[in-house]
Amino acid sequence: MTANCPFCAQSVVQHALVCSSCSRDITIPESLIAERDDLFRKREMASEELANAKAELETLRRRQRLSLRRS
Ligand SMILES: [Zn+2]
Repeated sequence: MTANCPFCAQSVVQHALVCSSCSRDITIPESLIAERDDLFRKREMASEELANAKAELETLRRRQRLSLRRS
């Protein structure tokens, strides 16, 4: 398994402490990784909610147009 260095984007061995290409310290604290995963999940949930809201809004608009036409 490999990962990419956040500085030079070279692929490095996963769990490596230092990038073999640019020699930068690339250790990421576990807490930060957990936080990142949490943020990814939240972002996914938010975009799902947004899609649902848009669909709901579209339904309401369609309904409104129909009721306007009827009256
Ligand atoms: Zn690097």
